Amino acid sequence: MALIVQKFGGSSVGSIERINAVADKVADARRAGDDIVVVVSAMSGETDRLLKLARDLAKAPNSRELDVLLSTGEQVTIALLSIALEARNCPALSFTGAQVCIRTDRAYNKARILEIDADKVKKCLAQGRVVVIAGFQGIDDDGNITTLGRGGSDTTAVAMAAALKADECRIYTDVDGVYTADPRIVSKARRLDTLTYEETLELASLGSKVLQIRSVEFASKYNVQLRVLSSFEEGPGTLITAEDETMEQAIISGIAHNKDEAKLTIVGVPDRPGIAYSILGPIADANIEVDMIVQNVGVDNLTDFTFTVHRNDYDKAMAILKKSAAGLGARDINGDTGIVKISVVGVGMRSHAGIASKMFNALAREGINIMMISTSEIKISVVVNEKYLELGVRTLHSEFGLENGQSN
Ligand code: ADP
Ligand code: ASP
Ligand code: MG
Repeated sequence: MALIVQKFGGSSVGSIERINAVADKVADARRAGDDIVVVVSAMSGETDRLLKLARDLAKAPNSRELDVLLSTGEQVTIALLSIALEARNCPALSFTGAQVCIRTDRAYNKARILEIDADKVKKCLAQGRVVVIAGFQGIDDDGNITTLGRGGSDTTAVAMAAALKADECRIYTDVDGVYTADPRIVSKARRLDTLTYEETLELASLGSKVLQIRSVEFASKYNVQLRVLSSFEEGPGTLITAEDETMEQAIISGIAHNKDEAKLTIVGVPDRPGIAYSILGPIADANIEVDMIVQNVGVDNLTDFTFTVHRNDYDKAMAILKKSAAGLGARDINGDTGIVKISVVGVGMRSHAGIASKMFNALAREGINIMMISTSEIKISVVVNEKYLELGVRTLHSEFGLENGQSN
């Protein structure tokens, strides 16, 4: 008998029909003898609907109250699923995040899980019940409701699996695994049988929205066996585990893209020590995360400096940059919200040269101009005009032979 955590995302519980299908799946697994903990998201579209209600009332809604509001979406689903399970004579109990003591820090809207008290869940399992837990939410030390950031139910599931030392954490979604690229963009994308934590983390960080980044960090830290599979059809899905030395790795395992960034440039600032700090210090002080940074070689003691931020932070960052530009005597500032970051990821890159030139050559052949480049041990990212999103991702997907599963 195994202990399995099953997580069902928004589209998997998006209607009464879907909740019935999930209840059948959960009840079957329970009857087969496994202990089952279920983590659910809000019904698809519900979190967006609630967010819009709040934004119709205030431009920047109070963050504490936003969490009180957003957490209700998941509370509806736990009750509905438990009702459906009970109707199948499958004993179940639903719990909010607070009720199973998912303790987080105080960062409303993007809280991090600090601790989970798994005792209550274990007791319920010992009574033969299925435990149904609301994803995406927790409680801080003062008893305030917190939420974990968009896609946070993945993190609830993996953290729960770690706390319970579950045999496997299964993330059921609307695709049957992690693909070589977003299947909505590349129709020839292929499901991967296995991926390492490290590769999955890079893919998630670089924009693949199939798993929340924090969930992969948790899985890697606590060695949780993680599997992504479809709630709509049977199949083995994608198993995400630690790197296996004996496995032959493809050089490139996937292509990720991120449409959520914008870039800002300050032109003609003095090329002297401390200039990067003068520009980025005020941005960091405003709690704005900077992703890529490029500083050109100085000419005539002047240099240009470009960086990217989340699109939601663009206006705020631009206002700060305008102030800095005046203080630094910059020649000009400009910005671009019409960009996309495309990345190739693979642990095999560590031991293979020439990936970057192959990537740049393929993009050049299609006439795609590269605006920024950044690299790490297992990824290369480029920023290009957003009109090249699909062409760029598809070109790289076929350049690295990902559709036919070649080891590149
Ligand atoms: P859920 O509601 O179940 O949490 P999400 O919408 O958060 O589901 O995640 C699933 C979606 O992730 C898929 O529909 C797919 O479009 C997208 N996605 C992006 N990149 C990938 C990838 N590399 N492999 C699989 N899915 C991906
Ligand atoms: N309901 C939340 C969201 O839409 C959390 C989740 O689905 O994982 O982001
Ligand atoms: Mg999700």
